[in-house]
Amino acid sequence: WREAEAIAAQLSTVTESAEAQELPLIAVCGRPNVGKSTLFNRLTGSRRSIVGDEPGITRDRIYGEIEWAGRDARIVDTGGVIPDDEALIPSEIFRQAQVALEEADSIVMVVDGRTELASPDRELARLLLRGGKPVFLAVNKMDTQELLAGAENFRRLGFRNVLPISAEHGSGIGDLLDEVFASLPPEEVDEEPTEVMLTAEDEMAEDEDGPQPIRKLRTHGEYEQRETKIAIIGRPNVGKSTLLNALTGSKRAIVSPIAGTTRDAVDEVVERGGHSFRFVDTAGIRRKGKTKLMAEKLSVVMARKHLEAADVSLLVIDAVEGVTALDANIGGYAHESGRSVIIVVNKWDLMTTARTDGKPPADIKVYEQQVRDALKYLDYAPLLFISAAEGKNVESVFKKVELVARERRKRVTTGQMNRFLEKVDFQKASVPMAKRIRIYYMTQAAVAPPTFVLFTDKDVKMHFSFERFLTNQIRDNFGFIGSPIWFKIKARNKK
Ligand code: GDP
Ligand code: GDP
Repeated sequence: WREAEAIAAQLSTVTESAEAQELPLIAVCGRPNVGKSTLFNRLTGSRRSIVGDEPGITRDRIYGEIEWAGRDARIVDTGGVIPDDEALIPSEIFRQAQVALEEADSIVMVVDGRTELASPDRELARLLLRGGKPVFLAVNKMDTQELLAGAENFRRLGFRNVLPISAEHGSGIGDLLDEVFASLPPEEVDEEPTEVMLTAEDEMAEDEDGPQPIRKLRTHGEYEQRETKIAIIGRPNVGKSTLLNALTGSKRAIVSPIAGTTRDAVDEVVERGGHSFRFVDTAGIRRKGKTKLMAEKLSVVMARKHLEAADVSLLVIDAVEGVTALDANIGGYAHESGRSVIIVVNKWDLMTTARTDGKPPADIKVYEQQVRDALKYLDYAPLLFISAAEGKNVESVFKKVELVARERRKRVTTGQMNRFLEKVDFQKASVPMAKRIRIYYMTQAAVAPPTFVLFTDKDVKMHFSFERFLTNQIRDNFGFIGSPIWFKIKARNKK
C-alpha cells in the first residue's frame, strides 16, 4: 500500500492553471462503489483533468471544474485509489479524509443509500465531522420517490446536512449544489461598480449585507464552453427519438462512455467543429410509456429530469397538432429551469406540399405567430422548422444550439451595463407610477442564465411589465438569444 501511495504521489503532478487553483475546492469522499465517480462525472461533464493513470492504480485524484449559479469551483474526487484488500480500506479512507480536510473548502461525503452503513462509512464520517470544515452527506442511489425516506436513516452518521441524490439519474443534485456552494468562502470583489451613482456607494457599503460581491470578470473567450449538454423534451410522439437519431445518426463520433466507465453510456456525444454536443440521457428520450396517459405523465417527468442535466433544451412540437396544453406545460418547465430553449417544430414535411389532411400548405409566418402566441413566455427562444424523419433542416439545430450556448454564457461588464442603463428611457415602460422603482446601478452577477442584480430604491418585487420592459431593453442591446434573463433586487432602503 505504501508503494501504491508513493506511485500515486509521483503521479500527482497537477497540471491545472494558476487561475483554476485560485477557485474554491469541493472534495468528494466515500468508500468504493457508493457512486463518487458517477456523481463526479455528472457534475463536471468532460471538463476534468485526470491526474494519474497507471496500471494498478485506477487514477489518483481527479480534478474537475464546475459552475453553479454563476460561480466556478474546483471539485476533487479523492477516492481514486481503490485498494482491493479489505484490510487496507481504513487507511485509504483516512488518507482521503486528510486530503479533503487539508485542501478543500467544503466536503461532500457520499454513501450508498441502498446498503447498510459499513464501518468505513462511520470511520470516514467521524474524521470529516471532526475536521471543522463544512460537510455534507449525499445519500446516493435514491432513484425513486419510495427510496427517499430511507435517506433519513443516515442521519445516524451525525451530519446536519443530509441530502438524498441519485447520481445516475441526476435528481437532488441541484439542492446539493445549492447547499455546498452556499458554504464556500465569499467571492473576491475585484471590480467596484463605479460608473453610475457613485454617491450611493458609501451608503451601500454600510448597508446590512451591502452590495453583492461581484465575481471576477473574464473575457468572453474564456467562457467559451467546449461541450454543450442538450435535453430533447416534448410530449409523446412529437418525434424526439427520430430527431435524436437524425442528430446523432451515422455522423456520430463518440457514443462511448467516459473512459473507464461503462454505465453512464446513456449520453450520446456528437463532435463537430471543435464543439461537443452531449445529448443527455438518450435512453430516457427513447423510453415509451405503456398507456397514453402514462406516456404523457412520463414525458413531463423526463423533461424535468433532462432539464436538470442540460444547458440547452430542444422543445419539440408536432407541426400537425400545433402547441397543445401539454406542450405549453413542458415549455413552462423549460422556461423556469433557466436553461436555454430552442423551439423545434417537427414534421414540417406534413404541412407543406402534400398535406395529408387535404388543407393548403401552411404559411410559415402565420404558423410561427401561432406558436409564439401559445408560448408567450418563451419569446426569447429561437424557432426552427424541421423534418426529423426526412433529415430536413436538422443541421440548423446544431448551429442554433451553439449560438444559444454561447449567448447564455455571455457576460456584460458593469461598465457596459451602466452605460446602457443611462440610455434607457424608463418613462416608456407602461407601469403605474406607484409601481416604479429606481435603479441606481445594475451588474451581471452570473451567467447561464444571465442574472442581473439591480440596486434599487425600494425593496419590492419588480412589477411584471417593468421586468418585461427591462428584459426587452437588455435583449435589444445585448442579445442573450435563447436564454431567460433573471433578476435579483438589492434595495438601498429596506421597507
Ligand atoms: P465509486 O467507486 O464511488 O466511484 O462509485 P461508482 O461511481 O463507480 O459507482 C458504483 C456503482 O454504483 C456503479 O455501478 C454505478 O452505476 C452505481 N451507481 C452510481 N450512482 C448510482 C445511482 O444514483 N443509482 C444507482 N441505482 N446506481 C448508481
Ligand atoms: P417521440 O415519442 O417523441 O420520441 O416520437 P418518435 O420519434 O417516436 O416519433 C413518433 C412518430 O412520428 C413516428 O411514427 C415517427 O416516424 C414520426 N415522425 C417523427 N418525425 C417525423 C417527421 O419529421 N415527419 C413525419 N412525417 N413523421 C415524423
